[in-house]
Amino acid sequence: MIKVNDNFLKLKESYLFTEIVNRTRAYQRTHPEAEVIKLGVGDVRGPLAPVVIEALHKAVDDLATTERFHGYGLENGPEWLRQAVIAFDYQPKGIHFTAEEIFISDGAGSDLGNLPEILGHDNLVAITDPVYPAYVDTQMMAGRSIIMLPCTPENDFCPELPEEVPAIIYLCSPNNPTGTAMTRTQLTRFVDYARNNHSLIIFDGAYEAFIQDEDVPHSIYEIDGAKECAIEIRSFSKTAGFTGVRCGYTVVPNEVKAQASDGTLVPLNPIWLRRVCTKYNGTSYIAERGAEAVLTPEGYTQTRAQIAVYHANAEVIMNGLKTLGYEVYGGINSPYIWMRTPDNMGSWEFFDYLLNEAQVVCTPGVGFGQKGEGFVRFSAFGDPNTILKAVERIKLLQKA
Ligand code: PLP
Repeated sequence: MIKVNDNFLKLKESYLFTEIVNRTRAYQRTHPEAEVIKLGVGDVRGPLAPVVIEALHKAVDDLATTERFHGYGLENGPEWLRQAVIAFDYQPKGIHFTAEEIFISDGAGSDLGNLPEILGHDNLVAITDPVYPAYVDTQMMAGRSIIMLPCTPENDFCPELPEEVPAIIYLCSPNNPTGTAMTRTQLTRFVDYARNNHSLIIFDGAYEAFIQDEDVPHSIYEIDGAKECAIEIRSFSKTAGFTGVRCGYTVVPNEVKAQASDGTLVPLNPIWLRRVCTKYNGTSYIAERGAEAVLTPEGYTQTRAQIAVYHANAEVIMNGLKTLGYEVYGGINSPYIWMRTPDNMGSWEFFDYLLNEAQVVCTPGVGFGQKGEGFVRFSAFGDPNTILKAVERIKLLQKA
């Protein structure tokens, strides 16, 4: 008889976004005239930057010729894109990598999900709470024990160092969902802890492009010693609107090592390369050329102009909510605003209240973990006029 992987049966129902859609649809059915504004989903708005569009078109034209046609590429990505990542994202910060340490991917999601595969099953994992749900789910699929590290206003959403030493620690900065980011000092504490305890940090920098504060590192490798203990995952999804194009990269420094069962220390880089070469046939050439265009001065200027719009949206939401006396966090180094619900309302209770009374959709914080209960997340990925309208509606609600 075929046996199922029982770990998948232990996963909690992933009902957050489905439930949001169901409740929103139910409301729209009974109020067909209502114009519902969605500030829940963390997806970007188009269009892509002109320099990216041009590169994508050019890549398609390449494929239309025999001379410039591209079939299978290197599984870990073409050298020209890995060099562009190094030259544009790392060298200016004084961080040096060889092309072998960069792995081009089809976005952060896949590698976040795939990395656990090269790590031993009995590793204890520490994950922040609230959190981007994929970390918990992928580790549960791998059958690992997880300890949760609470992130609350009391600790400035920066977890305490775990007492029980985990082998793997997930950090996401700037953070989804809280919208907060780790300072240099906070991140240094974690890097030192990981080095002292031989733990591995999986650092999710998907929202790096939103960092505005000087004191917030753009890469974990800005911290001394991080090359020994951290894998960094980046994505063009939120940086350049690539959620539908699909491209990202993972950095596995040569220095990162783990213990084999015979006690010897082995570097993870060649093991990850072996895994990638066996199970991944490379990112789309077209997407890679689009990503290359992002990593140019022109691409930087154009994509940062898009992000400036999201920053301005976040400011409108934050200022609006603050004026109304709500307790809000994040929103400066991130497109997300994390708000404590008023009068101890539950996350879903506030979601229903906002939908019914203001026709505005937010994301209930409890969907990101227990410590998210009593909070909601607003997303600034939207049209500025629609965002203004949503904030005005919430203001009217308070006056009523
Ligand atoms: N990491 C975080 C924290 C995210 O919020 C997301 C997407 O929303 C991802 C990773 C996945 O991004 P990608 O589109 O690169 O797979």
